[in-house]
Amino acid sequence: MIDQKLADGLKRRAQEGDNAVLRSAELKSLFEQIKTMPAEERSTFGQEVNQLRSELVELLKTVQDQTEALPPIDITAPFDLNVPADKRPRLLPTEAGSQHPLMAELATVLDIFYRMGFTAVESREIDDDFHMFGALNFPEGHPARDDYDTFMTTQTDSNDKALIAPAHTSTMQHRVLQAHKADLEQGKPIAVVIPGRVFRNEDLDVRHEHTFYQLEGVYVDKGVNAGHLIATLKTFLQEYYGKELEVKTQPFYFPFTEPSFEFALSCPFCDKKGCNICSQTGWIELLGCGLIHPNVLHEAGIDTNVYTGFAWGGGIERLVMMKYGIEDIRYFESARLDFLRQFA
Ligand SMILES: [Zn+2]
Repeated sequence: MIDQKLADGLKRRAQEGDNAVLRSAELKSLFEQIKTMPAEERSTFGQEVNQLRSELVELLKTVQDQTEALPPIDITAPFDLNVPADKRPRLLPTEAGSQHPLMAELATVLDIFYRMGFTAVESREIDDDFHMFGALNFPEGHPARDDYDTFMTTQTDSNDKALIAPAHTSTMQHRVLQAHKADLEQGKPIAVVIPGRVFRNEDLDVRHEHTFYQLEGVYVDKGVNAGHLIATLKTFLQEYYGKELEVKTQPFYFPFTEPSFEFALSCPFCDKKGCNICSQTGWIELLGCGLIHPNVLHEAGIDTNVYTGFAWGGGIERLVMMKYGIEDIRYFESARLDFLRQFA
């Protein structure tokens, strides 16, 4: 009898594709043993040894066949070529896709502002401390910096300040003011809207998301006052909701506007009678706005003795939620097809 352990060891080597197993000392010694066997055992033992050798040859062949059958893996292929065809991921039919409702509504919003003489620039998704705070009249250590639950990176800018995922689109104000300063001096007002994605470390609920869209607006010219601000926003909102609306402002505080307001409009659903969407108040607080603080204009090199301006910033989701009666802001980023298909 061949020692079982020895036989198993040889078979394992063959299964691993080790061709040298056929010339191994162990196998040779088994063949040697046949000659020295007592005559009555020789025949059986000889058959066993030859049987083992055949098995080893067979195992080695199987391993070799398997290796040859596998094509080299193309790592650039969009799926594993070795997966059977019916198990590969399939592409969705093209007609299953549609524009995201937020992007469709943003196009509508921008179109209204284009018709009002505004141009648009996109915000950034990573910015620096200066544009998030410094250029907007938040000095170092200003407590209002804490009102924005900003996400910061461990990477720093050239001033050794953490880079920031912007918590508002106002990070673009300074750039817009600087870029259009020359136009202003040639008698053309600065009229720019800035859509962009913003990020806050919020506790999530039906009204709060960590990632959402804002629309910023900046307007600067000679003799601009709060009446222009309110008229501009009211004109936009009436056009967007397609109906007459009342608006009201109440004092608020932002470091980068003075005076600052919270801007509310009469509920477009109940005409001020009170409903679930306006929490029975008849009014909906929509955005923050105000006259641009002289320090912000000054920082961009604009002469505050000659020019004044207004700015606002508000969530785009909020506008869209009110237009369609959407109850939960989290639907937008949820990838819920039953939600998205309603807008397709
Ligand atoms: Zn209402």
